[in-house]
Amino acid sequence: MKIAEDKVVSIHYTLKDSAGTVLDASAGSEPLAYLHGAGNIIPGLENALEGKKSGDKLSVTVEPSQGYGERDERLVQAVPRSAFKGIDQLAPGMQFQAQGPQGTRLVVVTHVATDVVTVDANHPLAGQTLHFEVEIAEVRDATSEELEHGHVHGPGGHHHH
Ligand code: ZN
Repeated sequence: MKIAEDKVVSIHYTLKDSAGTVLDASAGSEPLAYLHGAGNIIPGLENALEGKKSGDKLSVTVEPSQGYGERDERLVQAVPRSAFKGIDQLAPGMQFQAQGPQGTRLVVVTHVATDVVTVDANHPLAGQTLHFEVEIAEVRDATSEELEHGHVHGPGGHHHH
C-alpha cells in the first residue's frame, strides 16, 4: 500500500542537525504514527513520504521553510523578573507555558539578569535545516474515526480516555 492522503503511516526515524548531532529518534520505542495529508508532521517530511511504501528507507533534508520556520527575533523578549513570582531558581534552559495571541506557547529562558529575564518563544528547531533518516514501518487505511479527528489512534498515536 502506497502512502497517500488518509493513510495512517508508521515510521522509524532519526533526526540530525547539519552538524550531525542526533536531535530526536524513534529507536527503542514505538514508531511514530501520523495521518498523511492532515498536517500532523512538518510539510517537508510529509511531502517526501508521499507515494512511498512499507519497508522503504529514505534520507530527507528539510529546509526551515518546510520545517519549523525561520527564527523570528521578535519572539525573543525581555520580561520583568516579577512575572516569575514563586520561582527561585530561574536559569537559562528552563521552559514555561506562556499565554499569547495565538494561544499557549512554550518559551525558553535564555538569559537571567537581576530585574529582567530574556525568553525565546521560537520553536527550538526554527531556522534549522533538518536531516531525517526514515524507515517506513507500516501503511494502512485510516478509520473513519481517525479521519474525523484528524489524527491517529492506538499505538504511536493519540490515546483517548
Ligand atoms: Zn481522536
